[in-house]
Amino acid sequence: MATNPQSPKPGGAPRPGPSTVSVHGGDTRARAHQAIPMPIIQTATYAFADTADLVNFMEQRGLGVPLEGREDYGRYGNPTVQSVERKVAALEGADDAVLLSSGMAAITTLLLASLPSGAHIVMTDDCYRRTRQFCLVFLKRLGIETTVVPMGDYAALEAAIVPKKTRFLVSESPTNPYLRCVDLPRLAEIGRRLRVATVIDSTFGTPLNQRPLEHGIDYVVHSATKYLGGHHDLLAGVVLGSKARVAALRDARGVLGGIVDPQNAYLLERGLKTLGLRVRQQNETALEVARWLERHPRIERVWYPGLPSHPDHEIAARQMTGFGGVVSFEIRGKLEDASRFIDRMEIPYIAPSLGGVDSLIEQPALMSYFEKTTEERLAVGIKDTLVRFAIGIEDAADLIADLEQALAA
Ligand SMILES: *Cc1c(COP(=O)(O)O)cnc(C)c1O
Repeated sequence: MATNPQSPKPGGAPRPGPSTVSVHGGDTRARAHQAIPMPIIQTATYAFADTADLVNFMEQRGLGVPLEGREDYGRYGNPTVQSVERKVAALEGADDAVLLSSGMAAITTLLLASLPSGAHIVMTDDCYRRTRQFCLVFLKRLGIETTVVPMGDYAALEAAIVPKKTRFLVSESPTNPYLRCVDLPRLAEIGRRLRVATVIDSTFGTPLNQRPLEHGIDYVVHSATKYLGGHHDLLAGVVLGSKARVAALRDARGVLGGIVDPQNAYLLERGLKTLGLRVRQQNETALEVARWLERHPRIERVWYPGLPSHPDHEIAARQMTGFGGVVSFEIRGKLEDASRFIDRMEIPYIAPSLGGVDSLIEQPALMSYFEKTTEERLAVGIKDTLVRFAIGIEDAADLIADLEQALAA
């Protein structure tokens, strides 16, 4: 496994551990009414004391002075939202973070704000369906082309880059649903050498298990709906990177409008405080479940980066400190056999999404690709008998007993 990113840096002060950062990261201790949680500042607009106050604010903003704690309108900023941004930035080891209304708002705002017409993107396959759709359908209409290359084929990735046209290399890691992992230092090196910005959707990784910015990646994106929120009760997204890059995206958010409501930001901050506890538990249970499934005669194949049988196990072991809470596996038989198994599971809910305290289970062929034929699904790599199990924080022994009875019937 990689050295723990929370361990002391050579010669530096010891870094606080992941649970300490989950609880206190970004904390300013300057709270109204001495409240411990950041209060919900439920306002759409902000008042000025008098015209002089307004003129002073406009002049400072014109000079680019950071106006911490002073906003004029809710689309440009909110203290509850800023508090969450500081905490996620601390967890990810980023200069700054911008919070958006969903993971898709994070991805679309990043790409729309940065790409001129005529630009080109290279992305890896086995990625979130709506990200692929946004690039291949929506951006195409704006004259922006996307080349999709197979995950793990670095020669194809490099060959797809068009000098002066390609602006972004976009990949998830680990991917959905096969948990493929991109070699982060290698991707960062290609981007730097060929002057193309690199983007990692690190939703499945979480800032606990991997920190792509430390490997030289330019932008990290998360669907905060998943592990960061952690309770299946909110949608949000975040983009992290350097001060200048995030400042440009914050300006873009003020134009495109994908802001988070302060109530939602409060729920996200509350969820983030247990991120360290939750993700460590999910890593541990998922590894145990994956190992158990791999030995079961009714299982054709298990996809989990913590298993030596996974194609990217070595890459994952180098760059991750835990392998995450999602385990995908193929049941022997047909689509119906996988469905019957899922219907017999008692603990997990049948639902899309992942990363929360409740375990969720689904068959990607029916959940995300229902309207496609078996052949069309296979063309994007989705097998009919594939099951995606997103592990929650229930006890591992209970989840394994549930799998055992569902597979025995
Ligand atoms: C869920 C998800 C998204 C989209 O996030 P939303 O918050 O649902 O908009 C993007 N990427 C990955 C990897 C996801 O799992």
